[in-house]
Amino acid sequence: MKIGIIGDIHGNLPALQATLKFLDSEMCDAIVCTGDIVGYGASPRECLNIIRERQISCVLGNHDQYVTLLMDPRLEKLDPDTRKVIEWTQGKLDMEALKWLAQLPLKLDMGDFTLVHGSLEPHNHWAYVTNEQIAARHFAHQHSPLAFGGHSHLPTLCRQRAGAPPEISFLKNSVLHLDDAKTMINVGAVGQPRDRDPRAACGTFDFAENRIAPHRVAYDIAAAQALIRQAGLPERFAARLELGK
Ligand code: ZN
Repeated sequence: MKIGIIGDIHGNLPALQATLKFLDSEMCDAIVCTGDIVGYGASPRECLNIIRERQISCVLGNHDQYVTLLMDPRLEKLDPDTRKVIEWTQGKLDMEALKWLAQLPLKLDMGDFTLVHGSLEPHNHWAYVTNEQIAARHFAHQHSPLAFGGHSHLPTLCRQRAGAPPEISFLKNSVLHLDDAKTMINVGAVGQPRDRDPRAACGTFDFAENRIAPHRVAYDIAAAQALIRQAGLPERFAARLELGK
């Protein structure tokens, strides 16, 4: 079995379309999503519809959750630009779409692996698994050998051998030994990469040889930026796309 992994789409339709076209050419048996379908970008409804139509298994991201919250004090804590996009996104989704987003699970046990957006640590699910301490708390609650997560928008490989501290490294094409360490993989963001490579990020995992392959897909960044500007959303969410940060 070979799966395609996507996440942090963030309403970026040109990036999502290019990424799915690439993954279709990779002949994946299934595609899974680590959450944050919406937020930042100008095509939340279109992206959400694609995930639903293709029946892509998906967990809840923090932006997905924010969009389903109305009059909630948690929204007050967001920075004003982010809140502006969340409120704009709420207006673009009908009640049925909002209900679908709201029912997404925080984690999904897929048998061979677990899907999560941030961390599996209870009551701290929007933690960024990018340092040893947070990774250790995540792994304490990861009961499968392999998990895929998103949230930081950084392609990372986290591994923890029994009795040892977690090791975090930049994700590279590699064959993993899943029986000697717990593994958590972030393939990076489809719709808003933050590792200075502006191309869309995704991954494939081949269970026949336990090979993780990170991929970058060129897409029409100018088109995604134009949609953000036409919608009147904050300029910085358009500008950062060509910088990959
Ligand atoms: Zn995100």
